[in-house]
Amino acid sequence: MKLARVGEFGLIDRIQRLIVDESPDVVLGIGDDAAVLHPQKDRLILFTIDALVEGIHFNLRYSPFESLGWKALAINISDIVAMGGIPRHGVVSLALPASWKVEDVESLYRGLRRCSEAYDCVLVGGDTTRSLDRCCISVSVIGEVEEGNVKSRKGAQEGELLCVTGELGGARVGWEVLESDTDRGPFLKAVNRFLEPKVKLREVQELIAELNVTSMIDISDGLASEVGHICRQSGLGCILWEEKVPVAEETVIWADRRGESISRYIFTSGEEYELLFTVKKNDYERWKATQPIQKDLNFTIVGEMVKRDKGIHVKRGGEIVPLSSFGWDHFHQ
Ligand code: ADP
Ligand code: MG
Repeated sequence: MKLARVGEFGLIDRIQRLIVDESPDVVLGIGDDAAVLHPQKDRLILFTIDALVEGIHFNLRYSPFESLGWKALAINISDIVAMGGIPRHGVVSLALPASWKVEDVESLYRGLRRCSEAYDCVLVGGDTTRSLDRCCISVSVIGEVEEGNVKSRKGAQEGELLCVTGELGGARVGWEVLESDTDRGPFLKAVNRFLEPKVKLREVQELIAELNVTSMIDISDGLASEVGHICRQSGLGCILWEEKVPVAEETVIWADRRGESISRYIFTSGEEYELLFTVKKNDYERWKATQPIQKDLNFTIVGEMVKRDKGIHVKRGGEIVPLSSFGWDHFHQ
């Protein structure tokens, strides 16, 4: 059924039925002029927004509506998590072409709801407008963090270790597989990573409870770019040990098939939503010594922070090359 048949209010009614907005700290959810929330005592509020624009961030040729819903919320939750916080509430603004079907919007909300439940981020409202021929999904999320636990990009210091969670490269592989209409079979993990990124909410909370993380950022624009942000905002340089960066197996296979260097995927794959963070060497050593052999938070040390005037370099084999020489740094020191 076309959107025009149900109209704005008919659609909002359906949306309201599809999402759960009940939670002890939601006094009023969807249905009034604004949501009413109970603030948490002694917590700071984190507040973020991110949009997905058709033709820029997604392509309806291969992106299922449900995955879009998931992703639109997940990318916001990732920003909250990267600040050391936990997500609480979200609002969704939709600009939809009249050609969309009601069922498409319902699928979108099924994805939003799934993500909302997975990370306990309650949807409490939104806005619905018509657009000409492309869709835009904009989500804003409020989260909370204890005062001493905020992890910004500017807390790194000289001599600290640079670490990354998980494995990199997969999201870009997923995007390239979809764009090129390649058989997804062997690359399903990468495709899913691109379509429905998971957020390391629990893992990051565990990490910062155990280890004194000094700065943190999520990898949404690619490792090269995010390293640049931490360096610039902390007033430092860095040496990245390329061989240490963990790479997903599918990335190796795909890069080989395309005759591309793996480095390109390591440094430029965006939308990974892994975390890049720094810790003091002493803190890391102390923490490591107390770890049972089997237990390991899944992260890898990939570099070291150095003085700003030493710049940002990549160490590969015996060579040390400026990151800028790869042409991948979208940043200027
Ligand atoms: P107003 O004109 O006062 O902004 P709306 O008619 O836009 O009110 O919205 C009515 C209610 O429905 C509000 O509570 C709003 O948050 C909610 N709402 C509107 N669009 C959406 C949407 N796309 N997703 C979730 N809630 C929505
Ligand atoms: Mg409104």
